[in-house]
Amino acid sequence: MKDALLAFLMALTNPWIDHFFVGPLQMRCSVVTDRATGDTIIIDGGDEPDRIIAWVDRHEGRGPDWSTGPESNDEKEREQMPTRRVVALVNTHAHFDHSGFIPSLKKHYEVDWYLHADDNFLQTLARTSALRYGMSLPEPAKADVAFEGGKTYHFGSIELDVLHTPGHTLGGCCLLVRCEDGPDHVFVGDTLFAGSVGRTDIANSGGDFELLASSIHQQLWPLDLDTVVHPGHGPLTTIGHERNTNPFVGDDAGSGIYGFGKYA
Ligand SMILES: [Zn+2]
Ligand SMILES: [Zn+2]
Repeated sequence: MKDALLAFLMALTNPWIDHFFVGPLQMRCSVVTDRATGDTIIIDGGDEPDRIIAWVDRHEGRGPDWSTGPESNDEKEREQMPTRRVVALVNTHAHFDHSGFIPSLKKHYEVDWYLHADDNFLQTLARTSALRYGMSLPEPAKADVAFEGGKTYHFGSIELDVLHTPGHTLGGCCLLVRCEDGPDHVFVGDTLFAGSVGRTDIANSGGDFELLASSIHQQLWPLDLDTVVHPGHGPLTTIGHERNTNPFVGDDAGSGIYGFGKYA
């Protein structure tokens, strides 16, 4: 009973979520804010740090590609929003498109960066991987805190449940924000996409389709069916829609279907 009450108290009301599709791989960086307090976390700050900072701090510049908050031209609504205070940087995994510009965000916000320890090795390779796309990255950041699967983390007034979902990378995690007045939100990185799943053939990542499928079946499918899924690339979806229709891991996919997902 006490736990249920606590969960209710910590659940967010109508979180303010901004999405920025950044970098050459158009990776989704999500910024989640508690409208009541302004406490904010940045999920997968992989590229275009100046654009993200300008909007989060000052509502300047191009702004997000998708938002549940005020539009860039809606000054009145913006004035009613709290000032955002970034309290943590968190990552679903350490492929360079998701983590390459963490050093710039860390320098600006001076907060801890959270990543599962099984992806630390991958992080040291980010620069080399990015070179293949002709990108030069800053010296990679080291995670300050290791995410552990099955644990709940408190970032100011924001509560995040960490689900360890290896398969795309060894340290891949899905990050769940529970909401009291609407569907929950899960930020899945490259574990699950609308109609697809993450690649399992990327060098040095520990990719494994069987492992990926079992992570999804065991950790994601038990979530509420209306939970909004925010993948690292491509459109939003829901747990219910993917369970019903996903050709790789959905309830009708059966066994023995192998394949590589669409995105990196
Ligand atoms: Zn990835
Ligand atoms: Zn990616």
